[in-house]
Amino acid sequence: MMDSRDYQLLNQEYSKAGLPAIMPEDQPLINEISEQCFAASFGRLSPLDDNEDFKDLARSTLKLYRDHGDNDFLEDAPYYALLAADPRIAIGMRRATDWEEVAAKHLWRQKACDVEISWSCESNAATVVFPIKQGEFVCIYKSCVPCREWFDLDHAERQASRTREFWDDDWDRR
Ligand SMILES: [Zn+2]
Repeated sequence: MMDSRDYQLLNQEYSKAGLPAIMPEDQPLINEISEQCFAASFGRLSPLDDNEDFKDLARSTLKLYRDHGDNDFLEDAPYYALLAADPRIAIGMRRATDWEEVAAKHLWRQKACDVEISWSCESNAATVVFPIKQGEFVCIYKSCVPCREWFDLDHAERQASRTREFWDDDWDRR
């Protein structure tokens, strides 16, 4: 937390730069703005967003949405959640981090693994929920433990134990 001395120092700098002073009561708004800026520009929810295999998985979900999505239901929102289990409808969100609420509401009953990538996939024992953010979309997956752990293997192990590509036709026909 900033105290009044911090504000004083900050405002001296702001004044030199010709910017308006900020007051302690502005802080909640400033925090919200910086959170939004951070999410929009450096936009990562987690290190997963930079992993190529995670990105490919998210791209396949986005492709399903683009090919089969129902834009009639599209709300005007800064972010959208896509559930991998049914990516036809994009769910509007105020903040990217709201994906957790979307997941809690829609996935609590789901047992089917959305990822099905590992040889050891336990296809009816999905317990791990994770998001992959791509631009304004946050794709949400519920997977079994072996499929989630597959992404943490090294490249050679991943190639040796994968059961499909993320772009294959079978996935499109799901
Ligand atoms: Zn699985």
